[in-house]
Amino acid sequence: MIYHMFGKITLSIIKPDAVKKGHSISILSKIVHAGFHIVALKMTELSKKSAIKFYKEHKEKSFFESLVEFMSSGPIISIILEKENAVRDFRILIGNTNPIDAEKGTIRNLYATSLEKNAIHGSDSNQNAFKECQFFFSSREIFLIEDIL
Ligand code: UDP
Ligand code: MG
Repeated sequence: MIYHMFGKITLSIIKPDAVKKGHSISILSKIVHAGFHIVALKMTELSKKSAIKFYKEHKEKSFFESLVEFMSSGPIISIILEKENAVRDFRILIGNTNPIDAEKGTIRNLYATSLEKNAIHGSDSNQNAFKECQFFFSSREIFLIEDIL
């Protein structure tokens, strides 16, 4: 299990807008250069049902239906990243949810096109990071640094 990695991993998704536009490699490169280690990665897609499940905390929000539609509209790349303070540092790297407010040079500043189509997801807490990692990956698909060195 990955429970001992609590606090050192986060879950990211390169969203359908960024995958479609061909930004995946540039985004991955930026992530790795920022000191994150890729410990799990897959190209996949979310069914509507899975998108609803993944974003269930937002189900009462006005943007929920559109978000589910968007997130299931094409391939995504889901990634587990390992780093000290992964959740916090990754949220800084991706920038504000709304690209208009995202700091210059952040992934959302560079690649997002709207508040909804904001290119990338990052977990917002260690608790959610753990749940989201399990949502996408089985323990056999995760290769922690300590296990491969
Ligand atoms: N979103 C949206 N409209 C909003 C707020 C959020 O379409 O007013 C979308 C956007 O794609 C965002 C996702 O819903 O990334 C999840 O929202 P959250 O508030 O959790 O933002 P995040 O944690 O992704 O920054
Ligand atoms: Mg969130």
